[in-house]
Amino acid sequence: MQFCDLNRQYEAYRPELDEAMQHVIQSGAFINGKEIELLENELAQYAGAKHAIAVSSGTDALLLALLAYDIKPGDEVICPAFSFFATASMVSLLRARPVFVDVSPIDFNIDVSKIEKAITPKTKGIIAVSLFGQCADFDALNELAAKYGLWVIEDGAQSFGASYKDKKSCALTEVSTTSFFPAKPLGCYGDGGAVFTQSDRLAEQIKQLRGHGQSARYYHDRIGINGRIDTLQAAILRVKLKYFDAEIVVRRKAAELYSQLLHGYVMLPMLVEDCKSTWAQFTIGIDNRDAVRKKLTERGIPTAVHYPLPLPKQLAFSSLPSYDKTFEVSELLSETVLSLPMHGLITDQEVETVATAVIESLT
Ligand SMILES: *Cc1c(COP(=O)(O)O)cnc(C)c1O
Repeated sequence: MQFCDLNRQYEAYRPELDEAMQHVIQSGAFINGKEIELLENELAQYAGAKHAIAVSSGTDALLLALLAYDIKPGDEVICPAFSFFATASMVSLLRARPVFVDVSPIDFNIDVSKIEKAITPKTKGIIAVSLFGQCADFDALNELAAKYGLWVIEDGAQSFGASYKDKKSCALTEVSTTSFFPAKPLGCYGDGGAVFTQSDRLAEQIKQLRGHGQSARYYHDRIGINGRIDTLQAAILRVKLKYFDAEIVVRRKAAELYSQLLHGYVMLPMLVEDCKSTWAQFTIGIDNRDAVRKKLTERGIPTAVHYPLPLPKQLAFSSLPSYDKTFEVSELLSETVLSLPMHGLITDQEVETVATAVIESLT
């Protein structure tokens, strides 16, 4: 049993993937090949966003989004206390300050009702993560942000393909980012990511920033990074994108079956009305998490802990004023969450095996 079975996925689409990779290798266009623009058009169309800019990783996507918003040292950016490190670390890298807000116990996303208290005259924007594949409450976030003149970035690294009301993740606010890390719902064979935006002006800037701030070859108008995606990764993603919706259906069916089988035994992820998750992770809550995890490992069932430490408690953020504060929900989650095997080709039989093992490991 694999936590995320990339081999099975490769075998399923192997002829097309091999052909796409061979094509790039034979063309020699490893950088800025034509597959990149084709992918960008397909990604934008898929999400319903005006622009998609394919980049080198989900982390670089966040960095480029923050650079485009011209974040300065001392600026404050509101971030959820419970997420992957990159959500907040790119803010710190630019010498701005992440200001953490606790998450909601319902969907594990930033608790919008707690944001207002964290806003100061230095606040420039909010990064909201759509954790585990379920979108944060972007109507409420955009409304609050408009009231204070802030921008909102969706960190959709786990939620590409999810929907929120009648829209899709990565088109819910002015700028969104995603990741194509291999184990994400849509993954490539290395690092990759994308920035999405509804703004023509920001799209132009992000494209420039991605290529060393060049306006023409060897003419640099601003300080940027090398944030390009490889042509090979773009070609791989174009094949996988064709099968992405079918994989999401499998993930949703598996999540439903897990929920039925584990009902009454563990804390189950809650579905918010009008939201459809991509189930990047199927994450349950158990009091004696570490003991259960150990038993599952012994039985050959791989699991993961997303995440064992709330962001404000990370040593790297120890100089922030929030380091000593408590974030009740995030702390509880970090002690109880356990992610179960989940991917786009998982079978009912595998879900049943895992669920049975979880129930037997509880006592
Ligand atoms: C994976 C992830 C990232 C970073 O993406 P990379 O492609 O690994 O750089 C950022 N934010 C969240 C919430 C993630 O899950």
